[in-house]
Amino acid sequence: MEIRVIGVLGAGTMGTGIAQTAAAAGYKVVLRDIKQEYVDASVERMNKYFLKSIEKGKMTHDQKDEILSRITKTDNLKDLENVDMVIEAVLEDMELKKSVFRELNAICKADTIFASNTSSMSITEIAKDSGRPERFCGIHFFNPVPVMKLVEVVYGMKSSEETIEKALEFALSLGKTPVEVKKDSPGFIVNRLLIPYMNEAARLLAEGVASVEDIDTAVKLGLNYPMGPFQMLDFGGIDLSVTISEYFKEEFNDMGYAPQPILRQMIRAGKTGMKSGEGFYKY
Ligand code: NAD
Repeated sequence: MEIRVIGVLGAGTMGTGIAQTAAAAGYKVVLRDIKQEYVDASVERMNKYFLKSIEKGKMTHDQKDEILSRITKTDNLKDLENVDMVIEAVLEDMELKKSVFRELNAICKADTIFASNTSSMSITEIAKDSGRPERFCGIHFFNPVPVMKLVEVVYGMKSSEETIEKALEFALSLGKTPVEVKKDSPGFIVNRLLIPYMNEAARLLAEGVASVEDIDTAVKLGLNYPMGPFQMLDFGGIDLSVTISEYFKEEFNDMGYAPQPILRQMIRAGKTGMKSGEGFYKY
């Protein structure tokens, strides 16, 4: 089966980026969130993104309109009945993800491929009630999706070779560089490395070893990273980082992964990062 129509679930940060990138690559997209206003706002964010590209002379108004015309906006899951591939980007909540795929299994065609954009959680577990664990895999994009080149294609324990092939082809067709994560392991490659590193930065800070600014400067200049760990925490969301740390702690049965208390305090104070206007820095 050729992949032509993509269903995207969740019109938040990642769903918006995935839908935009797929439509720009020529796919038809059905974008679904629980409220129509969320989907409308998502497409408006894409419109603004493309207007900037027009200003820079990178595209025309006609091209923008053509890309956006490929996107169907909906709050009704049934509108995904004819899609060839679903990419789920709802909140990082196992039960929510499982229930969405359970419902979708009754709506979509038997050969529709299901994929989750989860940052860290078990693909095998998410696929469990999907009715099609062999046609299920992880397709993990990075934020901001239109810019970031990497895609992790993650095997669930039952993913078929054909499903993985389709996912790799799809990532390549978007102009991305896919890597294969051959074992369904928490955090895959990037977050397995990133989350403990950011957590350790929070520990350094809590111990009073250095300031936020100096830790960020040290990492940027000493390791040649474009961002320091606190800039990265603010960018990705401190709440998401804590959720993933908790998940690692449970899955690996290792308290060493437990999120640093200072990160929890930040969340309690509403300082979750860029999206809330304040994290370790003010925005
Ligand atoms: P977000 O909060 O910006 O968006 C989630 C969206 O899902 C919201 O608009 C919400 O209304 C919607 N939603 C909730 N239940 C739904 C349902 N039943 N059907 C359709 N939509 C529903 O979150 P996000 O940052 O876009 O993250 C989404 C997923 O992508 C998570 O699993 C996250 O771990 C993963 N991810 C995030 C990043 C990142 O940097 N933000 C990077 C890679 C992967």
